[in-house]
Amino acid sequence: QSVVHWFKRDLRVYDNKALSLASKKAKEGGVPLICVFIVSPQDYQAHMTSAPRVDFELRTLEVLQRDLGEMGIPLYMATIENRKEIPGHILEKCEEWGARHVYCNIEYEVDELRRETKLTKTCLEKGIDFTAVHDDVVVPPGALATGAGNQYSVYSPWYRAWVKHIHEHPHLLNEADPISPNPSTTKQTFPHLFNLPIPTTPPNKLLTGTDRKRLTALWPAGEHEAQDRLQRFLATKIAKYKETRNLPAANSTSLLSVHFSSGTLAARTAIRAARDANTSPKLDSGNPGITSWISELAWRDFYKHVLAHWPYVCMSKAFKYEYSDIRWSYDEAAFQRWCDGQTGFPIVDAAMRQLRSMAYMHNRCRMIVGSFLAKDLLIDWRMGEKFFMEHLIDGDFGSNNGGWGFSASTGVDPQPYFRIFNPFLQSEKFDPEGSYIRKWVPELEDVKGKAVHDPYHRGAGREAERRGYPRPMIEHAEARKRALEVYKEGLGRG
Ligand code: FAD
Repeated sequence: QSVVHWFKRDLRVYDNKALSLASKKAKEGGVPLICVFIVSPQDYQAHMTSAPRVDFELRTLEVLQRDLGEMGIPLYMATIENRKEIPGHILEKCEEWGARHVYCNIEYEVDELRRETKLTKTCLEKGIDFTAVHDDVVVPPGALATGAGNQYSVYSPWYRAWVKHIHEHPHLLNEADPISPNPSTTKQTFPHLFNLPIPTTPPNKLLTGTDRKRLTALWPAGEHEAQDRLQRFLATKIAKYKETRNLPAANSTSLLSVHFSSGTLAARTAIRAARDANTSPKLDSGNPGITSWISELAWRDFYKHVLAHWPYVCMSKAFKYEYSDIRWSYDEAAFQRWCDGQTGFPIVDAAMRQLRSMAYMHNRCRMIVGSFLAKDLLIDWRMGEKFFMEHLIDGDFGSNNGGWGFSASTGVDPQPYFRIFNPFLQSEKFDPEGSYIRKWVPELEDVKGKAVHDPYHRGAGREAERRGYPRPMIEHAEARKRALEVYKEGLGRG
C-alpha cells in the first residue's frame, strides 16, 4: 500500500498543496508516500521547452531527491519518450506499489487539462482515487466573474476583483501543511526507489559545457535558493520596486520568474511574504513597492485564468479573433537578425543578446522586442513567442502568450494596435545612461552620450561601423506607417 504524489511544475516540498494532501493521506493510512517525476523528451519538444529550462529542472530534481530522501520519501524518476504514455506508466507503477491514491497540482494548459481529465476517468475505472488541486494560482480560475457573469478580459477590473476575493478568502494565502516523514520501514519495502539516477538530458536539449557552467552560476536551482532569493529581494529591493522596475540596467526586479514557472516557489508563498513585510495587511495598500510587486505577480494568475477560460489561445490562435487576418511577414532573414540581436536598434539588440546569454530578458525589453517584431517588422508574433519559449529559462506558456498578445495587440487586454513603441524613445526613457546597451552590445561600449541609443542617426555612425555594428534594418517612422496600414487592413478583413 502507498500514496503517490506526481510532481510536474511544482518542484518543491514547502507549501505544496497536492504534496501536503498526499502526505496527510499517507500518514492517516500509515502507508508510505512515493513521489514521481517523469521526463518526456516529446513533451519538451511539444512545449518548446528551452535547453536552459530542462537543465534547471534536472538540477532541481537533485535538490528535491535529497530533501525528500532525508524524510524517507523516495522520488521515482523515469524517462518516457511518448508523452501520451505518461499517465499509463504512472498507473502501472501504482499497481506495482499498491497505491490507491494519486495526487497532483493542476496545470491549466489545454493538453494538460485534457490529460488530467482522462486520467481521472481511467483511475476511477481502476479503483484509484485521483485528486488534482489548484496550487499554481492564488485564486482558482472560475472564482471571479464580472457583474454579467463573464470572465474578465481586462486586467485592471480583474485585479480589483482578485484582491477583493483574497481579502474575503484570506485562507487562499495560507501555507499548506508541512509534510510528514515516511514510516521507517519504507526503505526496506521500496529499496529500489531510493537514490535513483537523475534522468539524463535529452540529446536535443543538451547545453555546451560553457553554457551550462554560466547558467548554473546565474540560476542556482531548487527551492532553498528560491526562498533565499525571495528574502534578499524583500530585504533589499522591493521598497524601490515601483520606481525602478522598468529600468533594465537597475537589476531591481526579483529574478524569481524561473522559480515560479518551475514551481520551486509558489506565488502564494511570495505574496504572503510580501504582505507580511508590508505596513498594511491589505494587498493593495501600504508600501507602493510591495503593492506594485504583488500586482505584477497577479498578472501571472490573470494569464492562467485566460488559458482556462479561452483554451483556444493554447492552439496558436489570437485571443482577439478579429486580428486573425493580419498579413504577417515570414521573412526568415529579417527574423534571424532579430533573433541574433543584429537589427541596428541598440535597445532591441541588447535585449536579444541578454536573452541569448542569460536565458532571461527584462520585462520592459520583452515588450520592446515584442513590439518591434510584430509591428516594425510585421513578423508573425507566434514566431517570436516560440523563439522566447525555446530560449527563456522562465518560459511559461500563459505569461509568454499573454505578453506576446499584449505586444502584438492581438491578445487579452492588449495595447491598442495604433500604439507602437518607438524603440529609440523607449531606450532613452528606460536606459537613460545607455548602460544596459553598453553591457550587451560591446560594439557600442565606447559611444558617448545619447548617440548610443541610435548611433547612425546621432553622429556616432563611423564608430559603430568600425566596430561592425549594423545599420538600422528599417526606418522606424516608415515601419510605423506600414504597421498602421496592415493592422487596419487586417481588421477590415477580420
Ligand atoms: P518581477 O518584476 O520581480 O515580478 C515578479 C513576478 O511576477 C515574476 O517573476 C513573474 O512571475 C510575475 N510577472 C511579472 N510581470 C509579469 C507579466 N507581465 N506577466 C506575467 N507575469 C509577470 N514571464 C514568465 O514568467 N515567463 C515567460 O515566458 C514570459 N514571457 C513574456 C513574454 C513577453 C513578450 C512579455 C512582455 C512578458 C513575458 N513575461 C514572462 C513576463 C515578465 O517579463 C517576466 O515575468 C519578468 O520579466 C520576470 O522577471 P522577474 O522575476 O525579475 O520579475
